[in-house]
Amino acid sequence: MIELGDAQRRVLSGCAPLHPRAVPLADALGCVTSVDLRADEAVPPFANTAMDGYAVRAQDTAEAPVRLDVTGTLAAGADAAAFTVGAGKAVRIMTGAPMPAGADAVVMVELTRAEDDGRSVTIEKPAQVGDHVRAAGDDIAAGQVVFGAGTTLGPGHLGVLASLGYARVPVYPRARVGVLSTGDELLDGGGRLRPGQIRDSNRPTLLALVRQSGFEPVDLGVAPDDEEAISAAVERGLEECDALVTSGGVSVGDFDHVKAVLDRLGRMHWMQVAIRPAKPLAFGVVGEKPVFGLPGNPVSSMVSYELFARPGLRQMTGHRELFRPEVVAVADEPLPRRPDGKVHFVRVVCTEGDDGRRRVRSSGGQASHLLRAMALANALAVVPDGHGVDTGETVRTLLLG
Ligand code: AMP
Ligand code: MG
Repeated sequence: MIELGDAQRRVLSGCAPLHPRAVPLADALGCVTSVDLRADEAVPPFANTAMDGYAVRAQDTAEAPVRLDVTGTLAAGADAAAFTVGAGKAVRIMTGAPMPAGADAVVMVELTRAEDDGRSVTIEKPAQVGDHVRAAGDDIAAGQVVFGAGTTLGPGHLGVLASLGYARVPVYPRARVGVLSTGDELLDGGGRLRPGQIRDSNRPTLLALVRQSGFEPVDLGVAPDDEEAISAAVERGLEECDALVTSGGVSVGDFDHVKAVLDRLGRMHWMQVAIRPAKPLAFGVVGEKPVFGLPGNPVSSMVSYELFARPGLRQMTGHRELFRPEVVAVADEPLPRRPDGKVHFVRVVCTEGDDGRRRVRSSGGQASHLLRAMALANALAVVPDGHGVDTGETVRTLLLG
């Protein structure tokens, strides 16, 4: 058996970042920037008003209440070039409209009284220079780095880039990840189960994990335990995808043909990792493309995806944080186990107590075919080799988002 950390290092050493490219802004959500992004222009591009009201010279309002002549109206989107606010004058102005030359403050409409059919206005209170004016470049100065290389783009980032006129953005592209189930016993979807058959649950699960991780899932279907069929599916996947995730056929059973196929195609490592669940793992690179051969047991395939595939795929897509966040939690009940030389990843529900500490409870049975307990879990407690964790003891816990 090899230690988890060694297995993870081996996997990460085979997962080189994809070549960055400029993708349309609308496709960049969740992608990681490959270079520093600079602003070519200031945001806001011009000084404008944050309030509906009157653009004035603050000094003219020092003796308020005071009456000023209104020389025009500026709405958002208007060109202020033809407007100037001279001594004793004011311009009616709407939120977002450019500040006219000469004005240095805005008095909000609530502190004014229109007179004379709008030809003049009484300002009730003195204004200070800069009141309710949003200066050009307030948010972003031209030339500044807005987001450094390695930034994961969220909705707000896309908004900022849109405000700067970016139509495309240089990022590590979203990895296309093929997902293949293998096994003679697998039935795809609904329909009647023949004797000995079970339904394929790994593929829907892994496709969803791939999507949830921000990658692009590609469904490669189910292949029977037959070298030719597996070979054809894997080769098709390698043509279309940046990486493959298979499940099943990597342990030491008589019909574990995935092993034979991947050995023929690329440089594979067959590992027995000192963890439970998910001990067997096949990982290798076939023509520069990482292939993750995950075990078939439903819980094992999910845990294996979390511990190996997700970090590897995140590295390929430029992420700097590869692993799930880890917290120290208090066991609310015993998490028993026996010594077996392995680290156990116990499916737990993690909550935050009134004292702000995280607490964990088992989400159900811990055998590797009990997918429901995995589905109910939101975290994995990392229980080291030994006799387990007692109530009140602390345990490292991986949060599964
Ligand atoms: P294997 O790794 O192929 O030896 O499979 C281990 C166990 O996981 C067996 O009980 C399989 O029936 C089960 N299994 C394998 N693939 C799937 C799948 N796609 N969906 C549900 N169970 C599976
Ligand atoms: Mg099998």
